[in-house]
Amino acid sequence: MLHAARVFGLWMLASACLPAATAQTPAQESRREAPRISILAEGTRAETPCWILTAPEPGPTVVIVGGMHGNEPSGASAAEQITSWSIGRGQLVVVPRANVLALEAEQRRTPGMLGNAGDLNRQFPLDGNPSEGIAAALWGLLEKHDPAWVVDLHEGFDFHRTNPKSVGSSVIHCADERAEKLALKLIAAVDATIEEPGQRFDRLRSPVAGSLARAAWEKAGVRSMIVETTTKSHALSHRVRQHRLLVHTLLKELGMQPSPAATVIGPGMAPDTIRVAVFDGSGTGKGAAGTMRSVLEGQAGCVVRRIGGPDVRAGVLSQFDVVVHPGGSGSAQAKALGVEGRAQEVAFVRAGGGYLGVCAGAYLAACNYDWSLGLLDAQVIDRKHWRRGVGSVDVEWTSLGKRTLASGSSAQGRQLFEIQYANGPIFQPGEVDELPDFHALLVYRGEVAENGAPKGIMPSTAAAIRSSFGQGRAMAFSPHPEKTDGLHALLHNSLVWLAGDGQ
Ligand SMILES: [Zn+2]
Repeated sequence: MLHAARVFGLWMLASACLPAATAQTPAQESRREAPRISILAEGTRAETPCWILTAPEPGPTVVIVGGMHGNEPSGASAAEQITSWSIGRGQLVVVPRANVLALEAEQRRTPGMLGNAGDLNRQFPLDGNPSEGIAAALWGLLEKHDPAWVVDLHEGFDFHRTNPKSVGSSVIHCADERAEKLALKLIAAVDATIEEPGQRFDRLRSPVAGSLARAAWEKAGVRSMIVETTTKSHALSHRVRQHRLLVHTLLKELGMQPSPAATVIGPGMAPDTIRVAVFDGSGTGKGAAGTMRSVLEGQAGCVVRRIGGPDVRAGVLSQFDVVVHPGGSGSAQAKALGVEGRAQEVAFVRAGGGYLGVCAGAYLAACNYDWSLGLLDAQVIDRKHWRRGVGSVDVEWTSLGKRTLASGSSAQGRQLFEIQYANGPIFQPGEVDELPDFHALLVYRGEVAENGAPKGIMPSTAAAIRSSFGQGRAMAFSPHPEKTDGLHALLHNSLVWLAGDGQ
């Protein structure tokens, strides 16, 4: 069931103004009315919110649907972010998570339903109307709002251009000339951001029978498109960015004057909510950003979006309180950010933002690599043996660490406890005069010393550290609290400190 608090929370997120530094001008902020939210299939297990954004000036209505297939999260995430946009003309009707049951199960079809019966995007027959559930509710939206367009956001497993078995990276439009012309414009906009020719978008004609897009055009005369990104070799933030750009281009072409950039992804400014951006660009370990997101979202009071290098370079950090760099490779994450992205991150923290680095993200926060951000006056020692191994290792609280991080964790009543470790940095105080000294929060007591790493280096060094940086704050964990049962609260407590004010 969708709890009232959740709906209220969503409304608060959407209705709040975005910070001034985002891409929206004050004029656009003021023209944004609070969206209305209705609940589709209310009272059933499948109930899901529908957002209605109305512009001050008349214009076309566009329905945007995400999350029809539960194993295609990028459409759902993009649609969720689009609910924070403003438009100057017309109306946007957005259903970000059409099939909540399948999304929760992370599978294509609704759990417990066989074959096409569980495939929400095969429930729109060309003879007769869907009579129940979300399919009927979505069809009802077309009847109620009489949109000019319906756009359905999906993703395929491979690039259609090089593997025709998949529809990944394509725009599939209804059999209509205007739709064809518009599809070409959308493709031109997204292709301009793609370097690899084999990853460019293809235009395909006529959505599959049984789909919402096919029925919308053939039965209701509503022009339609299915937009497909590609899961293969693209992080979630990359696919979401492509979806946003395609939808933004469509709205612009239709004269709806969407908020000036497709980089407004803001979780808003709801009171008592920490807005967290988790980096998932290249250099992020497989599954690391997803794990981090679910651990952080599992704690109360956090709204999490995943972002990549291009998002950082486009200035999205101004919409967040804290940026998180998870495990993987520090140097590769630095490369994905690029010189400009790294400068943006440093400026973000200097101006009052929070930085949380875990393992690779801790290397990235250090001061002694030519690619590191230098947010903490900490240098990594024994760099030659960075592959010192993976395993469980003993750590001890410092009194500051216990005060800042322990609450709500299984280590709250203990002094020494185990934490997962995977080739994290070994820190020593740095020698950067302009930076304040770091404070240790955890100290290694045990050790991992494999692959030729000498023994005795790791014990007594700081395993987690924090410091102020300009107006902002930075914290780094060498080990992995997010991968250790009972220690997830450490990350939540770190966000609370990072989002706080002052020294
Ligand atoms: Zn799909």
